[in-house]
Amino acid sequence: MSGSTLVIGAGTNLGGRRSILRAARDLVAHRFGVADLRVAPVWETAPMGPPQPDYLNTAFALDFDGSLAAALDLCLDIERALGRERRERWGARTLDLDLLWHASLSCDGAGLTVPHQGLRERTFALDPLLALVPDAVDPRDGTSLAAVRSALPVAGPPTLLGEGFEALPGDRADALAAAAEQVGAVNEGSRTAAPSTSVKLELSWADGLRDDERLRAWVASVTEALDARRLVLRRAAVIEDSERLTRALLFGEARSPVTRRR
Ligand code: ATP
Ligand code: CA
Ligand code: CA
Repeated sequence: MSGSTLVIGAGTNLGGRRSILRAARDLVAHRFGVADLRVAPVWETAPMGPPQPDYLNTAFALDFDGSLAAALDLCLDIERALGRERRERWGARTLDLDLLWHASLSCDGAGLTVPHQGLRERTFALDPLLALVPDAVDPRDGTSLAAVRSALPVAGPPTLLGEGFEALPGDRADALAAAAEQVGAVNEGSRTAAPSTSVKLELSWADGLRDDERLRAWVASVTEALDARRLVLRRAAVIEDSERLTRALLFGEARSPVTRRR
């Protein structure tokens, strides 16, 4: 750990949650301009607030020398890029990014408190943070966060391990995102493409469609969208998926136009 380590907590409970976390990881690395983002394991956790689906929670660690206000702005931008809409307090969301902790900076101002206000009570924030920085202390008073954590209830083991979050039993939304990425992987540049632009994809489904028909139509739409927008796909995130409608975001890099010979 260095004195400039920043830990950002990430949570999602709508859409293809695994696809959203993968896209969030890539967007955080891209927008913060870091090559070596560290990613914590992922825990599935019960929601706080109004009744809503379970969350996937993880955290990202990076070296950050800017201001905490600038970091918050980047996080809010990334949330919006992944379809976040604010309705009720603590309501369901595609992506929540919170500034959990910085090794040497703290802030208690209007609209921004770091370490995060809820950190000391929230196992779903402390567990990913401590997985990345086991010796983290509160920079305001030197309190060990591991000691704070040990006074809270024991949590289960993480649901997903590893950078690819490979182990998540896929639901349909995640399967559609994975299928889109397979389509994109036909272009070899997809592994290194930056998630610098995005294309929105929205498909309404006819009644009684079988899953294989849905998948075929989905793959055709993704192919068409990538061609039409000349996008080298890096990541697909499904932000809504129901029997009637699937909404997704395709992130990638615009291909340079082919120059034709006369
Ligand atoms: P909670 O903050 O209790 O986890 P939430 O994440 O659902 O709730 P949001 O609607 O995402 O809340 O955020 C509301 C505002 O909280 C943000 O616009 C931001 O100004 C403010 N905020 C204060 N401290 C932080 C922090 N450490 N990280 C992110 N946002 C913060
Ligand atoms: Ca939050
Ligand atoms: Ca938040």
